[in-house]
Amino acid sequence: MKILVIGSGGREHALAWSFARSPRVSGVYCAPGNAGTEAVATNVDLDTTDHAALIAFARAEGITLTVVGPEAHLSRGIVDDFAAAGLRIFGPSRQAAALEGSKVFMKNLLAKHRIPSAAYAVFQDQAQAVAYLDGGAVSYPVVVKADGLAAGKGVIIAADRGEAVAALELIMGEKAFGEAGSQVVIEEFLTGEEASFIAFTDGKTVLPLPSSQDHKAVFDGDQGPNTGGMGAYSPAPVLTPELERQVMEKIMYPTVAAMAAEGRPYRGMLYAGLMIDRGEAKVLEFNCRFGDPEAQPLLMRLRSDLSEVMDAVIDQRLAEITLDIDPRPTVCVVMAAGGYPGAYASGRDIQGLEAAGELAGVEVFHAGTRREHERIVTAGGRVLGVTALADDLPAAIAQAYRAVGLISWPDCYFRRDIGQKALRPR
Ligand code: ATP
Repeated sequence: MKILVIGSGGREHALAWSFARSPRVSGVYCAPGNAGTEAVATNVDLDTTDHAALIAFARAEGITLTVVGPEAHLSRGIVDDFAAAGLRIFGPSRQAAALEGSKVFMKNLLAKHRIPSAAYAVFQDQAQAVAYLDGGAVSYPVVVKADGLAAGKGVIIAADRGEAVAALELIMGEKAFGEAGSQVVIEEFLTGEEASFIAFTDGKTVLPLPSSQDHKAVFDGDQGPNTGGMGAYSPAPVLTPELERQVMEKIMYPTVAAMAAEGRPYRGMLYAGLMIDRGEAKVLEFNCRFGDPEAQPLLMRLRSDLSEVMDAVIDQRLAEITLDIDPRPTVCVVMAAGGYPGAYASGRDIQGLEAAGELAGVEVFHAGTRREHERIVTAGGRVLGVTALADDLPAAIAQAYRAVGLISWPDCYFRRDIGQKALRPR
């Protein structure tokens, strides 16, 4: 079979890498891909917002499965368009992708179906939202969220009334995130430890991958502004087997059933961003695709053929599948351009990629990279996801950082504490 992966980040490199290992797969294509996907796939330079062009390419190349990395494409209805053209594609429909694309839809769904999440209120009107802040029902910090997709920037944790009012002005007054800010969610601030729970679902069966944990803040010790993710590891010990059972029973299955009941059957990856506190998990967010960087450590542990699992999702026979997971842990350290998530430089020469990739148990997944003749240069904020698999977590951390130490470019930045949280006594 021939597979088309849509996207250009570390997650998409990991997906293409996983597909390329399958004896069922004769060709992998990446649109548009990056300098790393070239090693495992054929990059195709297509405008990925142009569904007609993607469909024409899939038909001409005889693509038998298309897999979508980024959420924006799913919210724009790429799955509906491919399906209407009679092509096989993995991911939720536009209506089902509202679980990530609209925080108002998600919060209302969870409340209606009694799925654990933070208390909240929804506003279409800025003055009413401010009046709510002043009504005495809010304690600080409070979380202000733009309804729609805002690349992780539409969530503001406000320490006091002044910050909350400023967040409302940014989202609703200045419309900093455009239409995504026409509604806001004001949400109770939850404390605890975050973890990611990512599963395949065909709308009936939920087949979970192992737990994982992202590191969203830019600096060590979870300090500084949030990023797309500075590293991840799997498994995350905060999600004990008992908690995993609870998450399946109280969150994953009820959400899939709720989506079906709402007439939006959900098929694809279902990613629950969780807050864990005193043995209880609550939903912070749902994503309708693999996490990035969580995909990198998770796919390195997946021994099953990813194309078979995705085929089973599309054909709604996921109940027949058991996942084969490497019991050994994995750690992914993101190497970023200095200055990210603010302004940063591009076009820097990256050294040491080959030596790092030769270390035992190491895969260097590319995110923001570009080939310029014989050189590979930086082309984004998050540049690489250096991922290692080893017998235990300290060894995987050490091996990932050994590989990171071999790679360099001017201004390169990475966190030095990825995975440390998992080593804390509990
Ligand atoms: P992403 O970049 O993952 O798509 P997003 O824009 O969908 O992010 P959320 O995941 O809802 O935003 O929130 C981003 C981060 O803000 C969370 O990972 C968490 O750290 C923090 N956060 C969100 N909601 C809450 C809450 N109710 N209490 C405490 N922290 C929260």
